[in-house]
Amino acid sequence: MNSLEHQLDYPLGDALPEPGRTLQIAPGVRWVRMSLPFALDHINLWLLRDEIDGRAGWTIVDCGITNDATRAAWEQVFADELDGLPVLRVIVTHMHPDHIGLAHWLTERWNCRMWISATDYNAARLASTSTTGFGGGSAASFMASHGLTDPESIAKIKARSNYYASMVPQVPERFRRLMGGDVIRIGPAGDKHDWVCHAGYGHAPEHMSLHCPLLGLLISGDMVLPRISTNVSVIDLEPEANPLPLYLASIERLRALPADTLVLPSHGKPFRGLHTRIDQLQAHHDERFADLMTACAEAPQSAADLLGVLFRRKLDLHQTTFAMGESIAHLNALWLAGKLERMLGSDGVYRFSPGR
Ligand SMILES: [Zn+2]
Repeated sequence: MNSLEHQLDYPLGDALPEPGRTLQIAPGVRWVRMSLPFALDHINLWLLRDEIDGRAGWTIVDCGITNDATRAAWEQVFADELDGLPVLRVIVTHMHPDHIGLAHWLTERWNCRMWISATDYNAARLASTSTTGFGGGSAASFMASHGLTDPESIAKIKARSNYYASMVPQVPERFRRLMGGDVIRIGPAGDKHDWVCHAGYGHAPEHMSLHCPLLGLLISGDMVLPRISTNVSVIDLEPEANPLPLYLASIERLRALPADTLVLPSHGKPFRGLHTRIDQLQAHHDERFADLMTACAEAPQSAADLLGVLFRRKLDLHQTTFAMGESIAHLNALWLAGKLERMLGSDGVYRFSPGR
């Protein structure tokens, strides 16, 4: 949790949209909140009034997870909140299950196109159909090589081989590609606004945030969140990945946006204070780096050894796998910058220490 949250401004106060209802953020911009069956118990989705090919309707940004409760909540939104107009387009910020989960259902139900980065589209298709990668044995041996060796956790991770596919059973068969710098015109005829795509890296393969300069709004997706720090993890698919510098450079680029931008995050409440939040996130990771350097200077450490340094609370298995990914991300960043050395022990576990 962000102990400096009081430095941010929540212009809507504690107002939240009721389940199946929307809350207006700006003319033609509505906020939907769907529940999630995780510790992170909700996701924010956005409705933008639009017109495409001469048809009036709505663009949806992000979809929610695939389950009956989310489908039912969407049906209520369709019945009560769209002014009788159809959905014309589905924009997906990135390939994680809470964002892309129902894209296949939404695009089929409304016979419309999904817009997403090509990198995330392909990663989602692969993860949704793969029976070998993305969890299971490969994830278990990767975690074990970073010191998570207790048999109970390893058995549970091994058993979770179709975790992604269970939440994203299908991905639309066609898509329209989004790239950083693209400008999408969204709005009803005569009142269209530019929404600029900002590519972000380190959290997902190629995450798209959407900025509307005229309305002063940033749909930040998961790249900038007010209460929690964005998950930046190394996973078994790319063991030597270095996502943290990518993430930090991505949010640094968002500093070019005006300081009074109203940020619409995927989790938490709309807030002002984008530059302050970027400062907080950068300081947070600097502290983590310093803590890890101190611990590794005392004795060589594995990613699992460092969970107690990074996360001072009890973690369940789901949280432990995220935490391991984050621990490895910090270690890989220091290792690949030449600040730590990596040694493979005779027990098959990587440990990190400052070089000689
Ligand atoms: Zn995400």
